[in-house]
Amino acid sequence: MYEFSDSMIYEQDKPRDECGVIGMYAPEKYDIARSVYFGLHALQHRGQDSAGIAANLDGKINYYKEKGLVQEVFNDEIIERLKGDIVIGHVRYPTKNDTQAINAMPLVVYYKGGAIAIAHNGSLVNGDLIRDEMQEKGFIFQTNVDSEIVAVLIAQNLKNHPVEDAILKALEIVKGAYAIVMTTEQKLIGIRDPHGIRPLCIGKTKEGFVLSSESCTFSLVGAKLIRDVAPGEMVVIENNEIRSYKFDKTAKQAGCSFEYAYIARPDSDIDKRNVYMARSLCGNILAKESHVDADIVISVPDSGTVAAIGFAEESKIPYGEGFIKNRYIGRTFIQPNQRMRELTVKLKLNVIRDNVKGRRIIMVDDSLVRGTTSISIIKMLREAGAKEVHLRIASPPVKLPCFFGIDTSNKDELVASTKSVDEICEMIGADSLAYLSIEGMKQAINLGETLCFACFDGKYPIEPISDNREPNGEES
Ligand code: AMP
Repeated sequence: MYEFSDSMIYEQDKPRDECGVIGMYAPEKYDIARSVYFGLHALQHRGQDSAGIAANLDGKINYYKEKGLVQEVFNDEIIERLKGDIVIGHVRYPTKNDTQAINAMPLVVYYKGGAIAIAHNGSLVNGDLIRDEMQEKGFIFQTNVDSEIVAVLIAQNLKNHPVEDAILKALEIVKGAYAIVMTTEQKLIGIRDPHGIRPLCIGKTKEGFVLSSESCTFSLVGAKLIRDVAPGEMVVIENNEIRSYKFDKTAKQAGCSFEYAYIARPDSDIDKRNVYMARSLCGNILAKESHVDADIVISVPDSGTVAAIGFAEESKIPYGEGFIKNRYIGRTFIQPNQRMRELTVKLKLNVIRDNVKGRRIIMVDDSLVRGTTSISIIKMLREAGAKEVHLRIASPPVKLPCFFGIDTSNKDELVASTKSVDEICEMIGADSLAYLSIEGMKQAINLGETLCFACFDGKYPIEPISDNREPNGEES
């Protein structure tokens, strides 16, 4: 494990692609782009900035990608054109300075003799170093995304090696958190980083297979979850069978705990743990840890709802709706500055005045990052006549940045990195504030010591490598 140090701050502007990936393989069935399109709808919560699909027809790759929601990017005519029996798709949620259309994925690159389409979720910690070294040697890059680094490394190795070996050689060089789907030749390939930080699972359809960031896509595309891609595993799907390559057997599994708290959809299973069950237990345990008398438990919809129901069950205080959410507004995190963020909270949520007036409220949210959401909505509850507002957060205080693909911001923007719980409570204007403990969250997710809690406890499973020093990344 690596402790946080201030020298790790440098890479804040590097892309941390909080994304969703999907890949389908269905030999002789050339209209699976439509299923991938449906799958991307189910992954939309993982990225709203751009969407793309690449279809492989006998090794030739056709693709379409654009900024916007899945529904805005694709239409019938575009989907019709994307013929292929191996198709991959991507939705992207990049960091704030990195929203150019050119960074949309999948990325399609051409090497002598073929093409590769590749898309990923996550972030390489040595991406900038590799890019710099390659640029020194005269390589040119078109995009800012880590997938391009992997693609160029693979293409370089393809001169002397078959595809699988070329990829495995590239994986010896890259370090970080990644879930990759790619297609080349007649193969659909899925790769999960050695610690399994970002999720990736395998489903079986009538005609073939699906790879997906989350299993919530499977019922839409007619698949059954078979298993997760293991940490440090590459799966190659070809000739209607799966071949497995373990490229790292030594790293300790460290799946992202924030997936269970906020990122993933409750109807997904990650590493055999259902997200709804984990999130609801977070609410149960939070209620045990921080009981307070109140008249109603409400949630910050939608991300706080499962935990709020769990909280209400345990505390025996009735659950009710405090807000109505406008479902047509994107996530407020996307907004570039504080003023816009505050405005979009109001655009997104409106108080049900008669349900909160004169009452003592427990409001449950999944996480508190900068505090913007809480400040605005507590103010809204008070203006609507709430007697007391007790905020309960169903995850521990986010104190440190994530280098592995979650956009949790700079350390100095994370309110819990500099303020105590009491100070935050005062800042957001709540009557009381409590967070779930790290122990409580571990108990709720129930996957033992196989999780990463770095944004909460500062213990990083991979060393974040800085630009200005050599990688020495021996992992413990
Ligand atoms: P904040 O308003 O900065 O305290 O952010 C907390 C709110 O943003 C919570 O209601 C979460 O649902 C949501 N949130 C937390 N982490 C993220 C993230 N990485 N990306 C987008 N939204 C997030």
